[in-house]
Amino acid sequence: GPGGVALLGAAPGAPSCPHGPALLFVKTSRAGEQGRRFYACSACRDRKDCSFFQWEDEKVSETRLAAREEYNRSRQPSFTHRQNVERLKNFVLLPLSQRKFCQDCQRLLLPAEWQEHSGHQFQCDISTAQLKTPSQLLYPLENKKTNAQYLFADRSCQFLLDLIIALGFRRVLSVGTPRLHEMIQSKASQDKDFSIRSLLLDIDFRYSQFYTEDEFCHYNMFNHYFFGGEAARETCQQFLNQDKSERVIMVADPPFGGLVEALASSFRKLMAMWKETEKEGDNNQEMPMFWIFPYFFESRILQFFPSFSMMDYQVDYDNHALYKHGKTGRRQSPVRIFTNITPRMIVLPIEEGYRFCTICQRYVSSGNQHCEICNSCTSKDGRRWKHCALCNKCVKPSWFHCDKCNCCALQDHSCERTDVGCFICGKAGHKRSACPSLSLA
Ligand code: SAH
Ligand code: ZN
Ligand code: ZN
Ligand code: ZN
Ligand code: ZN
Repeated sequence: GPGGVALLGAAPGAPSCPHGPALLFVKTSRAGEQGRRFYACSACRDRKDCSFFQWEDEKVSETRLAAREEYNRSRQPSFTHRQNVERLKNFVLLPLSQRKFCQDCQRLLLPAEWQEHSGHQFQCDISTAQLKTPSQLLYPLENKKTNAQYLFADRSCQFLLDLIIALGFRRVLSVGTPRLHEMIQSKASQDKDFSIRSLLLDIDFRYSQFYTEDEFCHYNMFNHYFFGGEAARETCQQFLNQDKSERVIMVADPPFGGLVEALASSFRKLMAMWKETEKEGDNNQEMPMFWIFPYFFESRILQFFPSFSMMDYQVDYDNHALYKHGKTGRRQSPVRIFTNITPRMIVLPIEEGYRFCTICQRYVSSGNQHCEICNSCTSKDGRRWKHCALCNKCVKPSWFHCDKCNCCALQDHSCERTDVGCFICGKAGHKRSACPSLSLA
């Protein structure tokens, strides 16, 4: 069989790149053969974005170590978070006419800096409202492999917030959800009675220009690394445990590029930072969470979090070519909410066609029919699925049972088999690029 690269995970004593401790991977040339292990950047899957690479058994000289440390330092942002907070204080004192944002550098400018940025594109008259909605001011990072930012459509963001409120949460740990964070923070600043607070953890340091150290931590969710060190970790720890009577939820919307096990391991560590009150009982309780991710990762997520279930709600995005509402009717988004909260508590909007299945005790898409044989509402993509007696499960409406493959597939599939499991769904029979989960057809 063909070889590949697999993640082994975080390793004690791992070397660091500018994005914190590297992760250990194994490269196999042929299935079954003992692979060679190496460290690579946790955050960037493209070597162009971070070229860090080291064989596990490689001897690294003192000189090279020193050079690496120097390099890592040089790659840190030119202003610290603290400095950015000071800069914002000065920025808001300026009259509107002097409040400029450099679009080329993605930075708020103080008058003394205008000169250095001459020739750059400015956005002027930055209002207080704009400072409160940085996700609209900053352009979404678009690097597909490393840091594609898909921002929630307003409707989905509002839905998430309403749900969080209805479930009685008072604090939200926003992991890679700048738009949810911003909706919460700006409501809190406008309305005295709105008592929900959010802490944003994100790798996008541009946000440090708009939030204090109590509102934003520069964080890498693939290796649970706080760029701000112990102080930042402490901020997060305190946020999670502040007032034990207030309920906290973690909401994460990570990049979809794989590495589910790395994400799961970081989320576990964040959950461990949240400690339940030393109340009687309930000691084994898991920190409530929404993990927002495509439905075809369901089996991978459940493998790491068996207490989770997938909700039918389709999360929509503003700037995703595939997953946003088209002008001409609705495109189906494959992105769902995975949660450890009891499914029946997650009330989905009736006006968008979701309904409650009394047998499954959860809200489902309008097209999701309860299958008598599976005894479950089986559709994953919102369309009505059909039961295959030979596979003994429900399958996509466009699939047919193939006797050669002994399973259901698209009519025009090629009956070739590969031995290794698919990277995305984990099933054998196809490679990642041909994963049936990826097509909505
Ligand atoms: N839908 C969300 C944005 C999700 S896009 C919203 O509208 O709020 C993914 C987010 O994860 C981005 O904000 C991106 O900056 C962040 N991100 C990407 N890689 C990350 C990493 N390694 N660690 C932490 N955050 C990361
Ligand atoms: Zn049902
Ligand atoms: Zn069925
Ligand atoms: Zn079948
Ligand atoms: Zn076949």
